Amino acid sequence: MFGGDLDTILAQVQEIATGTVAPQSAETDELARWPADGLRAMQQAGFGGLVAPEKFGGKGCGLYALTRVCEILGRECASTAICFGMHSVGTSVIAANATGDQRERYLAPICEGRHITTLSLSEAGTGAHFYLPQTSLEALDDEHYRLTGTKTFVTNGGYADSYVVSAVAADPDAPIGQFSCVIVDKDTPDIYWGAPWDGLGMRGNSSRCMELPGVQVPRTNLLGNEGDQIWYTFNVIMPHFLVAMGGTFLGVASSALDEARKHMTRRYHAHTGTNLAQSSVLQHRLASLWSAVERTRRLIYHAAQSFDTGEPDALISVMAAKAEVADCVVMLVNESMTLNGGIGYRKGSKLHRMLRDARACHLMSPTTDILRVWIGRALLGQPLLAD
Ligand SMILES: Cc1cc2nc3c(=O)[nH]c(=O)nc-3n(C[C@H](O)[C@H](O)[C@H](O)COP(=O)(O)OP(=O)(O)OC[C@H]3O[C@@H](n4cnc5c(N)ncnc54)[C@H](O)[C@@H]3O)c2cc1C
Repeated sequence: MFGGDLDTILAQVQEIATGTVAPQSAETDELARWPADGLRAMQQAGFGGLVAPEKFGGKGCGLYALTRVCEILGRECASTAICFGMHSVGTSVIAANATGDQRERYLAPICEGRHITTLSLSEAGTGAHFYLPQTSLEALDDEHYRLTGTKTFVTNGGYADSYVVSAVAADPDAPIGQFSCVIVDKDTPDIYWGAPWDGLGMRGNSSRCMELPGVQVPRTNLLGNEGDQIWYTFNVIMPHFLVAMGGTFLGVASSALDEARKHMTRRYHAHTGTNLAQSSVLQHRLASLWSAVERTRRLIYHAAQSFDTGEPDALISVMAAKAEVADCVVMLVNESMTLNGGIGYRKGSKLHRMLRDARACHLMSPTTDILRVWIGRALLGQPLLAD
């Protein structure tokens, strides 16, 4: 478990968020530009291996630290936060059972800030059911697999140095629902990238389609054993994925709250000479918004810490926290926009971007609906993956 000085890490991340990420956030959104400078600054500060174990050269941080880091970045730019978050999720999957060779070829450069990785799970065929890949993995020869399929919405797509790709065994007798993950290098011949990402929000993400028409992958790039990824899904992928997104969108919600507070103190009316901060109706509304952010923050911090300390129900708390963050961020940005009046509704306002970014939280897997179904099943003692 992480035993370092988290406050120092957070202070450094705050500097990067203020000095590098914030000044570029409007352009990242407007030009749909992948946030290279923000990610490079995180790497240069030594956070490429934030969640990699210290024995491999990483910082050894857990979910709580990842939540806090993504929250700080997300306050300034949700795209940068998710790009860093997905790199961290990919890193945690590689680190979970890395072979000596994988440590040398992937974890070492990740921890040295020379390598970005990311997660390629989603597919058009199974959509939000990200744990059901249809991409196939078959033995080509003693040294290689053949990987065939198409991945969708790959964050950092086209910019990462490697991709953690999920696939099912091509063998017809392989058990349903069991999948494997392999690392695919960016310069693997015959990878084709779809059109540049042009989303409503999260526009810096480069969430692109990745076509893998029978590409060759060294067998040494298999993560863990063939078919054991359900273990990875619940122990590594989901928890990291959920807090990376939860932290990011909590950051967006906090930022929206600040926008409401700032506008209320700055906006004076000519006919009264007073500002909006004098209106008791608006004071009341602001209080409700603060409470929503604060209780959501407490929930996700607590959930992440429970996971880090190995508490038995931690995964349910982490799942609930991401679903609650999604509700919170959409409500917060909407309400803050109302409190900001016409100025917040203008194109180019920070809220304009945040409203578009916030809408992604419900639909990024594990989605809010699916999480709540899973939480219900867990509470009823039913298997989570029943469909
Ligand atoms: C900005 C962005 C970044 C992303 N980054 C990545 C990434 O880095 N890597 C990656 O692998 N994927 C990524 N994704 C994909 C994402 O996580 C989802 O998997 C994908 O958007 C959902 O797939 P879909 O659009 O086909 O949804 P659909 O499967 O069509 O689902 C539509 C809606 O129906 C609901 N739904 C579907 N089935 C059920 C059910 N059985 N019960 C209840 N509700 C259900 C879903 O919750 C969703 O709200 C990203 C997506 C976005 C938008």
